[in-house]
Amino acid sequence: MLRQPLLESPGPVALLDRAIVRTLPVVPRSVVRKISDRYIAGTEVADACRVVKGLNAQGKMATIDVLGEEISSRREALGIVRAYHDVFEAIEREHLDSNVSVKLTALGLNLAYELCRKNIETVVRHAAESGNFVRIDMEDSSCTTETLQLYRELREAGLDNVGVVLQAYLRRTIRDIRELAPYRPNVRLCKGIYVEPPLIAFQEFEEVRQNFVRSLQELLRLGSYVGIATHDKFLISEGLRLVQEQGLTSEQYEFQMLLGVSPHAGDRLIRDGHRLRVYVPFGRQWYAYSLRRLQENPKIAGYIASDTLNRLFGADGT
Ligand SMILES: Cc1cc2nc3c(=O)[nH]c(=O)nc-3n(C[C@H](O)[C@H](O)[C@H](O)COP(=O)(O)OP(=O)(O)OC[C@H]3O[C@@H](n4cnc5c(N)ncnc54)[C@H](O)[C@@H]3O)c2cc1C
Repeated sequence: MLRQPLLESPGPVALLDRAIVRTLPVVPRSVVRKISDRYIAGTEVADACRVVKGLNAQGKMATIDVLGEEISSRREALGIVRAYHDVFEAIEREHLDSNVSVKLTALGLNLAYELCRKNIETVVRHAAESGNFVRIDMEDSSCTTETLQLYRELREAGLDNVGVVLQAYLRRTIRDIRELAPYRPNVRLCKGIYVEPPLIAFQEFEEVRQNFVRSLQELLRLGSYVGIATHDKFLISEGLRLVQEQGLTSEQYEFQMLLGVSPHAGDRLIRDGHRLRVYVPFGRQWYAYSLRRLQENPKIAGYIASDTLNRLFGADGT
């Protein structure tokens, strides 16, 4: 299934951009690869380590994601489990300040719940051995209930080095926060990237923002550790206001951003004494992730156009 991003945005989105977003799936993979390079560390664990080292040198933490949501067999899911083992080893060996992010579909959620449960437990236990932490990404709404169920099962099995993601565009999120309250969950809060129907998801940009702020308030009230994952200037300043209102120290929350997106806003947060974690994906299955990032890049038309011109005329316009 092609998962498309939310198209609403605060400003006027150029018609050309919208048109290009719709045609992205037919853009040749080689072009998608080239223009999405900034969002992905590379194909190998060594590439991720190199990028994380650079981020750490700038005072930024990282979370490494092994790209693999396109898997279709148990064997491939096991391959992803092994890839995470390699990542933990590399993090330890190279003394990197990084945890990991995991998509449950990459561990087999769409193949069998029990298989996925076994795989995620293996990854979380391996992380625990080296004092590391696993963030379970949130995917489209067909996965939400099972993802939260698996999170609860891991916590009930005594595993505390695991956190989950909640999406502000989902109408259910405030209810989910209340239901998760007994676990005082470690949560990454983001807007949400998949296209969801109005029945279950806010469609308007401002509604999503409002629910983000409300969800953040609820989580902080619970005493949850929150990763405030956004590049939206309004939400960053609301996040800063709320953590200050709660009197939190800089160890009690963090901001999170995606590799290749708004690095200067990240630098400012670091300069002002806040913690920032950058999401660093790597792997051979880069296509679905790249499409999502390109589809929400407000300047996508320009990138595609200049790449097309470069290919037509052989110029290097960068
Ligand atoms: C660390 C992290 C982890 C995430 N994990 C998940 C997850 O598990 N599940 C999920 O559904 N979503 C996840 N997301 C994606 C998130 O839901 C949003 O789709 C994404 O962050 C864009 O929303 P925004 O809050 O930055 O606001 P927006 O209003 O979309 O963006 C604000 C500004 O950021 C810049 N920007 C945003 N995206 C791009 C881009 N791709 N290229 C260039 N500029 C850009 C633009 O200047 C834009 O105006 C994650 C995001 C982050 C930062």
